[in-house]
Amino acid sequence: MPELPEVEEAMLRLRSAIEGKTIARLQTLHPSFSRQLPAASARRLRQQVVERVERRGKHQLIHLRNKSILHAHFRMNGDWLIQSGNEPVHKFTRALIELTDGTRIELNDSRALSALTLHAAGTDPLPDLGPEANDDSFDAAQLARALESRRIAIKPALMDQRIVAGIGNIYAAEALWRARISPTAVASSVSKSRLVRLVAAIKAVIGDENRPPGRYTDTDGRERFEAYDREGKPCSRCGSSIARIAQAGRSTYYCAKCQRT
Ligand SMILES: [Zn+2]
Repeated sequence: MPELPEVEEAMLRLRSAIEGKTIARLQTLHPSFSRQLPAASARRLRQQVVERVERRGKHQLIHLRNKSILHAHFRMNGDWLIQSGNEPVHKFTRALIELTDGTRIELNDSRALSALTLHAAGTDPLPDLGPEANDDSFDAAQLARALESRRIAIKPALMDQRIVAGIGNIYAAEALWRARISPTAVASSVSKSRLVRLVAAIKAVIGDENRPPGRYTDTDGRERFEAYDREGKPCSRCGSSIARIAQAGRSTYYCAKCQRT
């Protein structure tokens, strides 16, 4: 699942391919995308100049010269493929944007769960979002305020985009492991000193320059994660087995010995 670092990387590729360019046409190749972007909406994109591309949380916004906004969210498995017009369209491409310079931007998504919607000038496509996880405004004091009335477990709280934007299942597990906080700790009861550690851990895991290449899975055999997807493997800190539990319908991986409630 693409989270802040992966969406940022995808957004930067999109930005360099599309900013300042003119859209020739948008084509949908899957019923879900045809429902989200019916032909009448797709027609409105013709000859539109892309002024600016930005990321907010896991959302990407393509700002057009007529002030409408094309909104993209990869959900579980989306990504951009930047192609030239004479390369074949990938089999998992669900929508594509052709530019007048011949570039083709493909929204590639094997599960076809991504969102791609057009929003009229003056409307805001974004839901309520907390501060960016990698922004200076996200600190322990801010997180303490956001969590003070939340009696849910800390891990689903970190995945709530209204509390902090950009964190999902993987980086929540990794940050909690680094901060030695149990994912089951009650969010409102985590002490200020542990929140300081947690914020530092979040910024470290999403900013890790040494992260092996590849999108969300480890393809070259290198251990990419300390906790995520390591059920039964030894914790690199204490040697105990990493456990897996279900929280809010998702798998949570953690070390029950050195991550405390
Ligand atoms: Zn451990």
